[in-house]
Amino acid sequence: MSRNTSIQNGGWVIIFSKIEHNSYKWYQSLRWKLFISYFLISLIPLLAFSYIMSDALLNYFMEVNEKELLYQANKVAGSIKKIGYLNDEKNRAIFDYELDEKSKEENYRILVLDSKGIVLSDTNKTETGKTFLVPEVMVALDGKDEANLRVNERAIYASAYIENENSEKIGAVLLISSFNEFYELIDDLGEKWLILTIGISLAVSVIVFLTSQIITVPLKNILSIIRKITAGQLFQRIELKGHNEFTELGEAVNTMTERLEQVESSRQEFVSNVSHELKTPLSSIKVLSDSILLQEDMPTEMYKEFLQDINSEIDRMTNIINDLLSLVKLDHTEAGLNIAQTDVNELVKDVVKRLYPLADQKQIEIIYESNKDIVIDADEMKLSLAVSNLIENAIKYTPNGGVVTVGVDADHQNAFISVQDTGIGISEEEQSKIFNRFYRVDKTRDRKTGGTGLGLAITHSTVMLHNGSIKVVSKENEGALFIVRLPIKYSKQ
Ligand code: ADP
Repeated sequence: MSRNTSIQNGGWVIIFSKIEHNSYKWYQSLRWKLFISYFLISLIPLLAFSYIMSDALLNYFMEVNEKELLYQANKVAGSIKKIGYLNDEKNRAIFDYELDEKSKEENYRILVLDSKGIVLSDTNKTETGKTFLVPEVMVALDGKDEANLRVNERAIYASAYIENENSEKIGAVLLISSFNEFYELIDDLGEKWLILTIGISLAVSVIVFLTSQIITVPLKNILSIIRKITAGQLFQRIELKGHNEFTELGEAVNTMTERLEQVESSRQEFVSNVSHELKTPLSSIKVLSDSILLQEDMPTEMYKEFLQDINSEIDRMTNIINDLLSLVKLDHTEAGLNIAQTDVNELVKDVVKRLYPLADQKQIEIIYESNKDIVIDADEMKLSLAVSNLIENAIKYTPNGGVVTVGVDADHQNAFISVQDTGIGISEEEQSKIFNRFYRVDKTRDRKTGGTGLGLAITHSTVMLHNGSIKVVSKENEGALFIVRLPIKYSKQ
């Protein structure tokens, strides 16, 4: 089925483009997002830890080596002072030999410089006789010791000054030790740590990827059910297992589908009721008009009688359509209410006055009882129709000569309108159904009374829109009492 195909399924028009199957790419899925998130969440701290650790390790090695080299430089400087190396040419060769041995043994280069920075001895033999005024030497000739790591050379330079008996600075010792092996050690450690880090992050992400099924499977189930509902297959239920957020979501979806089913079935029932109700008068009209057409030389009397019947069937259809229109208006929620201060006594009295002639036809007495002035927030037009329906019913379902009593009363918060008759009453079983649309206790008899079965539905909807309630007290053949409660102050719910 193409993207924009709309299908009509039990009245549910669905545009498929709204919910596309797998409308996202695989990498946009929740599982992949979890995978990537967990990969980064475990990778970044481990990498940061690795960086901090290698830096701390490097600093530690550097400090230890610098201290050790400084100590050795001072030791060499001390020996030079002791044996008078700088002045005594004789001892110099022996001492140079000793320095060579020490350099090989300790694995560092030793340079001895005079006060001008000229190299007197170099265990590497490359700088002898040359000026070697590196910063560490200059600092030493100034009478201080210093050790530095030269990062680009990966070497530590440590210097110490040499003094004579008069404490004059007559030269300097410079030791140069390679730091390369520590760098290599840390690089090696870093490499291993990186492999371990990626391994751990991947393992965590794979576990999360696999366990994320716990989330994605119920989500996919719920999604597929919702898709079916959207496609018009309303009668769906999600299987509920255990108790967690997903079962709660499933419960909510199940409740929603139940509600949809109710709405759908009441809609279907309503449509079939409307069709049925309109079909009956139409069939009568058809039969009557056929008779007129087929029967030649029909007496005028009969002709008139048939036309009167047709006329009353048309009236009946008009009544049904008017009632339906009233109901549709009430369905348009509270927004359609025209709330204003309404005098309940005035309203009820007006309705009673209008219905006197109807009651008179059946010699029914209407008694009106009220001893309070009551003003409420209400939509006067709609409330008049609701009250009128109740009093009309009371007259309709009360035999000739009966009594209809209409009362108005109030407490601090509510107004009450009651309509009591001495008519045929309503059995307990029927009482819960009479507010349904098109419901009539006795269809054939009620047809004669001209009822549409919509009057009480209109009254009920109106009262509900005013945040009120309606109740019926009755027994068969013992009359009926309808009580409407309406809040004095209207507030939107
Ligand atoms: P209708 O147009 O048929 O009167 P309503 O919705 O007003 O439709 O009422 C529904 C049914 O409830 C009526 O058909 C009737 O059987 C019953 N009913 C309503 N009011 C009364 C009453 N006062 N006494 C007895 N039955 C009543």
